[in-house]
Amino acid sequence: MPTDINEVFFAAVGDVHGHMNQMVNHLRHSTEVFHRQFDFILQVGDFEPHRDEADLATMAAPAKYRHLGDFEAYHKVRRGFPWPLYFIGGNHEPYGYLDTHPEGFELTRHCHYLGRVGVMDLHGLRVVGLSGIHSEEAFRDARPPLSAQGSCSNKVFTYFNERDVEQALELGHADVLLLHDWPSGIVDPKDAAAFQGQRRSFSHDSVGNEYARLLVDALQPKLVLCGHLHRSYVTEIQHPSGKKTSVHCLASVEQGREAYGYFGIRNGSLLTWGITN
Ligand SMILES: [Zn+2]
Repeated sequence: MPTDINEVFFAAVGDVHGHMNQMVNHLRHSTEVFHRQFDFILQVGDFEPHRDEADLATMAAPAKYRHLGDFEAYHKVRRGFPWPLYFIGGNHEPYGYLDTHPEGFELTRHCHYLGRVGVMDLHGLRVVGLSGIHSEEAFRDARPPLSAQGSCSNKVFTYFNERDVEQALELGHADVLLLHDWPSGIVDPKDAAAFQGQRRSFSHDSVGNEYARLLVDALQPKLVLCGHLHRSYVTEIQHPSGKKTSVHCLASVEQGREAYGYFGIRNGSLLTWGITN
C-alpha cells in the first residue's frame, strides 16, 4: 500500500465513454483504500465529453453507441471532478467541440483536454499526449478544417496524421506518454492465444500501430498509458539506451477495476501499484 507516498501519486483511467460518474465513484473508493488523494488523473481517450446533442452529433460512432453520457452535469457544474483530470482524444469524441481548441483547453474545472498533440508539466512530470488513432489512408493528409464538419465523415477527425506525429517527436522526451491505441510489437508471443480474433485486431502481432511505437522508441518515457482495445495488458519495453518503458494498457470503465492503474513518483523513479482494488 502506498500510504507512505509523500511525492506524486496519480491514477490512470481507460476509455470512459461518457461514464464519468462511475469513474469518479471508483476513484473516490480508491482514495479510501490508499488513504491518499490523487495529485491528478490521466485518461487515455474515448472520454466522450458531450455537452449536448449537438456535440454528440460530431462523434464518429454507430447509432447504438451514441449516448449523451454524464458530462453534461459536469459542464453545467452540477457535478465536479474532485482531482485535476487530463485527457487525450480517442476515436469516439465530439471533435466538433474538442477541435475548437486543437492546442488543448480546460472544458470545465479540473477537466483538461491535452489537444491533438499536447505536453504538460504535472508536478515535475513531463506528460505528452497524442490524440486520435492511425489510418494508413489518412496519414499523409491534413485534417479538414472544422468548418468542413457535417459535409464530410466524422471519422476523418478521429485520425492523427504525419504532422501530429512529427510535432510529438519534436518534443524530444517524455516521462509519461498518453496514446489511445496501443504501440505495435508489445504483445508477448506467449500471450498470442488471448489476442486471437479479438475486437479490432485478429492476432497478437497486428495489435497496435507503428507510429505509436515510433513515439515510444523516440521519447523513451518511463510510462506509456493506452486504451482503445478495452482490455488490460501490462508489459515493458527495453530500449537500446538502457532505459525501460513500462506500458499499461487499460480496460474500459464499464469493465470495472482493470480500467484503472495507480502510480507514484518517488526520487525520480516510477512506482506502480497496477490494479489493487
Ligand atoms: Zn473505447
